[in-house]
Parts: sequence; structure tokens; C-alpha cells
Amino acid sequence: MSGLSPAQRTAARARLDAERASTEARIAALGRDFESIVSSSASAADDEHDPEGSSTAFDRQHVAALLGQAREHLTEIARAEQRLGDGSYGRCERCGQPIGPGRLEARPATTVCVGCAGRATRQARRGRGPT
Ligand SMILES: [Zn+2]
Repeated sequence: MSGLSPAQRTAARARLDAERASTEARIAALGRDFESIVSSSASAADDEHDPEGSSTAFDRQHVAALLGQAREHLTEIARAEQRLGDGSYGRCERCGQPIGPGRLEARPATTVCVGCAGRATRQARRGRGPT
């Protein structure tokens, strides 16, 4: 069972809807950025010594990476909506403890509690000490 009240579930669904809308808007905007970078680099293609060349490649990579992240986030949102449907939303996927309401508000698509997320971050930073 989820431990979320009907009001909390309604609020979570509304937050996920908003999150999905803003992520989709972000993907659309990044897609336009990507196209404009690609078309501006195509029009500069005759200039062999284009000093912007390498930074354009960098921009393109950067926008592609952001696009990838945004698309990934969209699948996280879809999963969170599924979890909301099956009653597991709001519970940490790793330790099974409830995720704090503040964290769910800030990151509605999250699947781990703040403790587990912190552990994962510390593991990723391996030994550089607390921030
Ligand atoms: Zn946890």
C-alpha cells in the first residue's frame, strides 16, 4: 500500500502532469536549438577555417546530451505515473522507506529517498568527502 492519502495522490498526479509538460516543452526547445546549431554549422561548411567550428561541435554535443537527459526524465515521469497507479509511488525503490513529501514536491519523478540518493551521490564522488 502506498501510504499516500487521496489528496496526496491527486497532488502528486498534478505535479507529474506539470513536470511532464515542462519537460516536453524543454525537449521541443532543445530540438529547435539543435536544429539551428546544425543548420548554422551547415551554412558555415564552406569556410574551412571557421573558428566557430569546434565550439559548434561542442554545442551540438552539449544540446544532444541535454536532450538525452530530458528524454530520460520523461521516462522517469512515465514510471512515476505507473507507480502512482499501482500504489508504490512515494516509496523508495532501494530501501522501501517512504520518500519525504518535500522531496516528492521538489522532484516528483524521483524513485529513491533522500538518504539513498545521498548514498548514490557519495558513491559516485568516491572519497572526496562531504560537500
Ligand atoms: Zn531509500
